Amino acid sequence: MSALAQASASDAYSIAERLEAGLKGAPRGLIIDGKSVQSVTGKTFATHNPATGKEICQVAEGGVEDVDLAVRAARRALENPAWRDMSAVDRSLLLNRLADLIERDAQDLAVLECIDNGKPATLTKAVEIEGSIKTFRYFAGWPTKFGGETLPVSPRSGAKILNYTVREPVGVCGLIVPWNYPMSMAAWKVAPALAAGCTVVLKPAEQTPLTALRLAELALEAGIPAGVFNVITGFGEAGAALVDHPGVDKVAFTGSTEVGKAIVRGSTGNLKKVSLELGGKSPQIVLPDADLDAAAASIAAGIFFNQGQTCTAGSRLYAHSDIHDDLLARIADHAAKLTIGNGLDPAVNFGPLVSEEQWDRVSSYVEIGQREGAELVCGGSRPQGLNEGFFFQPTIMANAASNMRIVREEIFGPVLSALRWSDPEDLVAQANDSDFGLSAGIWTNNLKQAHRMAAAVKAGTVWVNCFNLVDNATPFGGFKQSGWGREHGRQAMELYSEVKSVWVNLS
Ligand code: NAD
Repeated sequence: MSALAQASASDAYSIAERLEAGLKGAPRGLIIDGKSVQSVTGKTFATHNPATGKEICQVAEGGVEDVDLAVRAARRALENPAWRDMSAVDRSLLLNRLADLIERDAQDLAVLECIDNGKPATLTKAVEIEGSIKTFRYFAGWPTKFGGETLPVSPRSGAKILNYTVREPVGVCGLIVPWNYPMSMAAWKVAPALAAGCTVVLKPAEQTPLTALRLAELALEAGIPAGVFNVITGFGEAGAALVDHPGVDKVAFTGSTEVGKAIVRGSTGNLKKVSLELGGKSPQIVLPDADLDAAAASIAAGIFFNQGQTCTAGSRLYAHSDIHDDLLARIADHAAKLTIGNGLDPAVNFGPLVSEEQWDRVSSYVEIGQREGAELVCGGSRPQGLNEGFFFQPTIMANAASNMRIVREEIFGPVLSALRWSDPEDLVAQANDSDFGLSAGIWTNNLKQAHRMAAAVKAGTVWVNCFNLVDNATPFGGFKQSGWGREHGRQAMELYSEVKSVWVNLS
């Protein structure tokens, strides 16, 4: 059991109290060139605790001029010999030192994320903060292993030629991340970018700016040179300014498909390299021979973890008629056992949605589903007794059909849309009938069926008899409108580097 889980409820509350007291006073500044600074316009915005709806603190609102300052600082740092010429071993050491500092502050970071995002602190520490430590440690291993090749070219002249490739950092990277896993999404981008020798300007989501700022402070404490890791807090306009800036060589974005498309349009000025991790509407396909206990537990976790605000959430359930009712009853049972409340309480495993806007969005989809003919099995509204904050019950909608909006659109909340099937012929076609292709779950004990379906499903990740397993060693990303490129593994290092081919005439 983690240290935080062992801590009493009052411990997490008292950490939150201490952190909030420290955040009062001057607005939290942007991090530019190693310093915390207010925005050029002096504008600020409030960040709120979703469990109470109350303001935590004011944060500097970065705009076009601040983005320009941050990009210039990142450019200077890119060309600074202290970073540019740093040995692979030293770069590795710095990333490991940053991982050590995240580990040292894990409890505070988990509580900070909890008050800013709403997610339960215990789960945040176990999943997101531990995950970020692993991400920095994993990518700390790459600088000493990521290099080019010597290639057997055959020049027509018969000349003796040595040809080799080298990997160079792609340059200044604009990293734009969403609010659902603020710390992990930042780590997934910052770690490979720095491992490849790039410098970065990170733009966290306006709903959850606090852990990104803390991460940049820890990077400075670890000894990462000033200007290598800058943070611009603010709204979509700040993200758009980063996408538009001619001094940015690459944009890495995680967020909605709609904004992803705007980023592609906005990045054409200097033809930035762009990678995108976008939305999803992942199917969970359950065959009649599946282990229903395991499937129900994992399907419930796959849609209700993080209050359903997960890009890979298994939000479309395709259950065979023979087991449909039994399976739904079991999933509903898991939903009923979730402990909903303020995530500072270590017993809580289901917190509020991130904002009022998100609450309204999720609630409106439940209404839309019912209007379109789906049946509400459980949930659908605010849990009793939780009158403040943005709490929404875990929700299951049955009798859903392929053409319904609750099956086609990403709700990004704790809503499972269940469809019944009996004809195996068009099952995969139904599962593939989506604009998205991020992930899929397949539940069966038939080995051949499992492999056939894994091959036929159009998704970047397929889980067989498991769900939502993610590891830095294996690529993560989407088919279709779920994105461009892959994070994690060697693929992430490739995203943040250019290949140079060198020809040397030895004749
Ligand atoms: P969002 O697209 O609204 O915002 C994401 C980020 O983009 C924020 O920092 C926001 O300020 C910024 N932004 C907004 N408009 C911009 C613009 N015009 N130009 C540049 N930046 C802009 O997404 P969200 O609501 O914060 O997050 C939810 C979405 O993220 C969901 O669709 C979810 O599926 C997706 N997501 C995907 C993955 C993945 O890996 N595929 C992971 C997590 C979340």
